[in-house]
Amino acid sequence: MQKPPVNWTNTLLFSLTPLLAVTLVPWYGFTEGYDLYEWVVFILLMGFCGISITGGYHRLWSHKTYKAHPILRFIYALGGACALQNDVLHWASDHRRHHAHVDNNDKDPYSAGLGFWFSHIGWILREYESGKEDFSNVKDLQRDPIVVWQHKHYLALVLLMNIGLPAFLGFLNGDIIGCLLLGGLLRLVLSQHVTWLINSLAHMWGRQPYSDASSARDNGLLALITYGEGYHNYHHTFQWDYRNGIKWWHYDPTKWFIRTCSFLGLTSDLKRCSPIVIESARLDMQYRHATQKCHSSSNAEKWLQRIEQEYQQLQATLHLWAQHRQSWYEARTSELHEKWSHWDRRQVRDSYREVKYKLKIQRQRWHELLQSFHTHQGLAPA
Ligand SMILES: [Zn+2]
Ligand SMILES: [Zn+2]
Repeated sequence: MQKPPVNWTNTLLFSLTPLLAVTLVPWYGFTEGYDLYEWVVFILLMGFCGISITGGYHRLWSHKTYKAHPILRFIYALGGACALQNDVLHWASDHRRHHAHVDNNDKDPYSAGLGFWFSHIGWILREYESGKEDFSNVKDLQRDPIVVWQHKHYLALVLLMNIGLPAFLGFLNGDIIGCLLLGGLLRLVLSQHVTWLINSLAHMWGRQPYSDASSARDNGLLALITYGEGYHNYHHTFQWDYRNGIKWWHYDPTKWFIRTCSFLGLTSDLKRCSPIVIESARLDMQYRHATQKCHSSSNAEKWLQRIEQEYQQLQATLHLWAQHRQSWYEARTSELHEKWSHWDRRQVRDSYREVKYKLKIQRQRWHELLQSFHTHQGLAPA
């Protein structure tokens, strides 16, 4: 099959910048040296580009998982230009197509089905049909004056943020070249490859706890260098959630940033998927894996029966828990207080606690059953 024509601007840009970064940056380091100031500029600009892409381009503009004040949107627009990953309109349009047609090699602009290289960078280097400019899926963003402004002045903003800003910061410290190399060149190359890893590696390496409908994976290690975007299986399953790492111990600085900004009035309407939907999806995956494995077990019938029974019970308790939780929430809400007598409220609270405890016990039993199945599947269930 004939390959599409090469995009020479991108090919030159994305091969020359890494080449210059691996030669000029160490050379200047050995001959002139870098000081702490330049490394701090490098780290701050890395974070600025990173959060602008993950918090701005991705979770705000592509998925609308929350609302942001114009000041924050303006900062994101500058950071996105600094990251040199095209303007918001192009990025979000590609990304919405990625979610709508994930793994479809003809329609997903960075389909992981075409391999690591293609999904990482290959898709930018040629004029593929799937990457053709089509803003029909970002009409809502064309109404955002900051997005339109960034689109109009993109090239000027790229030069300002990638050359003007590091040069100015270098001027303040008396070493323009040092700052241009660390805060400009090295930061640009690294921040781009970090984002691209989410399109490539996060669709290949990791677990699929919520869904196997797409190739997207959860990978805690990848989250460490991608500002929390490594929980990509969760993200593809619940893309309207402003979080990617949902547990408090999940490393998701983008989530923390968005939440902190909400206390300052810079973000609002943060969307979260309900815990019951999340847990139900997890449970379904575990159930499907176990029942598929059952068929190769010598006591298939008995295991299937036991797993089915526990699964049905756990799903039922999960729904019951959600109902009681809602009632308890309503009973606690202040304006409803008058309608509830003290004893009514206590009853609602206690029955919620009872179901919560029941759920905890059933979860434990479910995990023990799965564990026992994985270790003793050749034997009959105890
Ligand atoms: Zn996404
Ligand atoms: Zn993806």
